[in-house]
Amino acid sequence: MRKLLLLICGFSLGLAGSAWAAPAPAGATGQPAQRASRDPYGFTVAALKQFTALHPIDTHTHVYQSDPSFTTMLQQLNVHIVDMVVADPTDTASHSTFDELHKDAWQFVRSSAGHASLSTTFDPFGWDSPDFSKNAIESLNRDFAQGAVGMTIWSNPGMAIKDPAGNPVLPDNPRLEPVYKELAERHKPLFAHLSAADEDWGASAQRVPDVGANLPVPPLLRARDHIAQENPQLRVIGVHLGSVKEGLGQIARRLDQHPNMAIDTAGRVDSLMAMPQEQVRAFLLKYQDRILYATDNAFRQNDRAGSAVARWESRYAVDWRYFSSGDTFQYHGREVHGLQLPAAVLRKLYHDNAGHWIPGIAR
Ligand SMILES: [Zn+2]
Repeated sequence: MRKLLLLICGFSLGLAGSAWAAPAPAGATGQPAQRASRDPYGFTVAALKQFTALHPIDTHTHVYQSDPSFTTMLQQLNVHIVDMVVADPTDTASHSTFDELHKDAWQFVRSSAGHASLSTTFDPFGWDSPDFSKNAIESLNRDFAQGAVGMTIWSNPGMAIKDPAGNPVLPDNPRLEPVYKELAERHKPLFAHLSAADEDWGASAQRVPDVGANLPVPPLLRARDHIAQENPQLRVIGVHLGSVKEGLGQIARRLDQHPNMAIDTAGRVDSLMAMPQEQVRAFLLKYQDRILYATDNAFRQNDRAGSAVARWESRYAVDWRYFSSGDTFQYHGREVHGLQLPAAVLRKLYHDNAGHWIPGIAR
């Protein structure tokens, strides 16, 4: 079975020099570029070579399953990923308990041949215990001792956890402050996975690429910004472009206000593709030290390995084409203009910034 899966994955990427030439955009020579897979959005042979040479790091994924073909895909793409545990009791597609998620994520990381690191979390459902902060810190430190590179906070505070009076517990609750102090002391970043709903993006991002600076800030984001302000030594990574839905100007304002804050691109590259090309390019150039490449790719317990591998490869390929090339191409019915970022900026986006913001992860 293992052999079969490896064969499938090997065929999918075709890295052994037998690249499958599908109809593809003409390269500089006027000849169709050779594709490294059958995926119409897949890597060309040349693009794959550039991508793998960067030792790319995807700083935001969710993996709760181990599979040889999946690990082979990571090896062949030369990608290192951060696997984020999030304690989401509503995530019925995978598990219902924190302990199971945590165990499966560790199992995957240990099986990943060095291609994955864990961003751990605490069990938010022990909030009622008087020892909550102490227990959380002990649990985090056990994971750090085993190599976990950071901590992810999910939207449970503010959405699912209530105090005894029935009020929502926000992420800047004083009982979490010792946790943030511990992270700062240990040079571990806080991944602030405090998403605005996905539906807030997409079409609205396209229609309103930028708005004024005085919009009301949702409570979760206000709490995150408060944490960054109160803990200047703590690295805070705002996922999903900082979960700011109002546009690049609002994100820039936060980055300017909080020098200890970075953002990742997880789940938002399609939104960037829909924005004006020059505006996105200028933003990426200006904040080139503060942006981490990430996908939000997932491989959950019930996912089929073959389709996950294809989905992940496709995501990496189209993102790379968008950021690195000057191509104009069709992607899911939309005309996309590649940003053709300079090589030094691509290196920061795909590798170096991860090393700075997530100490210990760079290879
Ligand atoms: Zn995520």
